[in-house]
Amino acid sequence: MNNIFKDPRIKPEIQAGLEKIHFTKPTEVQEKVIPVLLTHKNAVVQAVTGSGKTHAYLVPVLNEIDTTKEYVQAIITAPSRELAEQLYQVARQLRDASGLNISIAHFAGGTDRERQLKKLENRKPQLVIATPGRLYDFVQKKNFAIDHVKAFIIDEADMTLDMGFLENIDYVAKRLPKDTLFAAFSATIPVKLSNFLRKYMDHPEQIVIGSKTIIAPTIKNDLIDIGSKNRKKILYQLLTMGQPYLALVFANTKQKVDELTEFLQNQGMKVAKIHGGITERQRKRTLREVENGQFQYVVATDLAARGLDINGVSLVINYEIPRDLEFVIHRIGRTGRNGLSGHAVTLIREEEMDRIEELEKMGLHFDFVEIKNGELVPRKHYHRRNNRKAKNHKIDTKLNGYVKKEKRKRKPGYKKKIKRAIQEDKMQKRKLEQRHEVRKAKRLRKRRRDRGR
Ligand code: AMP
Repeated sequence: MNNIFKDPRIKPEIQAGLEKIHFTKPTEVQEKVIPVLLTHKNAVVQAVTGSGKTHAYLVPVLNEIDTTKEYVQAIITAPSRELAEQLYQVARQLRDASGLNISIAHFAGGTDRERQLKKLENRKPQLVIATPGRLYDFVQKKNFAIDHVKAFIIDEADMTLDMGFLENIDYVAKRLPKDTLFAAFSATIPVKLSNFLRKYMDHPEQIVIGSKTIIAPTIKNDLIDIGSKNRKKILYQLLTMGQPYLALVFANTKQKVDELTEFLQNQGMKVAKIHGGITERQRKRTLREVENGQFQYVVATDLAARGLDINGVSLVINYEIPRDLEFVIHRIGRTGRNGLSGHAVTLIREEEMDRIEELEKMGLHFDFVEIKNGELVPRKHYHRRNNRKAKNHKIDTKLNGYVKKEKRKRKPGYKKKIKRAIQEDKMQKRKLEQRHEVRKAKRLRKRRRDRGR
């Protein structure tokens, strides 16, 4: 396959910039998405953070900008301040490496609105990176014109939906020129989201980056049943038995993060913490310090599970399982990035085994381990799990039957039968997934309604 980074439609400056930041080989999502966006075709891309999706849109977007025209030509949205900030830094890095004179602005809620407005008066940006709320605010007040926008990218679209920002996006999207290029990037594509996107995209290119990216194959994903043991003690053992380069411990609540941080600090460990109760400024400082290698341990809520790119995480510990199971995948995805090996350990009690089964259905594979003599070793006996395996076998007998028969005597059409059975199985799964999405959306709506009361 030709290297898409060398495509002659990409400006030589950007090609050189990519080389300068050592992006020589495109990732799968870049290989698939860049040519689509270069030909100005809308796209809905299912890809997780860590796949390289940011550059899959940044390259074509920067390429699109006419540096001689001083008006907004492209908009990228990200659902949280942190994500928008990170995206801004990444965009600046590629712009600077390319040496292109592109003006990029970063608008996010919570940041100084007046200062941003002042900047806007001085020079209109060519690329706007914004959270949906602030974007809506500026567009509504006509702080900048959007009638020359050529590309509109929604990053982390499912999170944008979950956070209730689609209305803001809708307001802006409706007012964009008819021929604007639309693209949405999302880890999952819930039904509600695809319905929304259909409003703006007529037959978009649907690109799914293989389910193998659910977690990187380089991650060893372990599971420990803590039984009646003390969870904190196990955490301490896990953190101290190897020498993790950087360990990220996830807990479900701010209180739990505070509690664990204090516990570990009392054991003499240098621990940083990240959660929503800490001011953004402090969070940023902590992230910088972590980045500089000042901490070996970070305890965090799911605020750090999505999007935030903390380099060098060698160990992720799920101290407890989050209510929303998808976050397990995001959490684990913080390690094993960029082809490096990673390790994740999830702590559970037996009664949570059903949730692990659900995760397995989503495509996660766990290795069952226990701590013995200060080491993690495969756990041999686990009755429930063994039973479960037997149960799973039963579910699959339909497929197994076809395969077995095929070995004994080759009936005509056996391949078709297997295919059909697999297809049916897949459809069933898809239906279940869709039902799950609809329920989740309903729950969210209800929660929002209740909150509004
Ligand atoms: P993303 O999924 O966009 O957050 O990217 C994940 C990580 O991969 C980031 O740290 C990127 O800098 C890095 N990355 C993305 N594309 C490439 C590439 N083609 N070559 C090397 N690193 C990459």
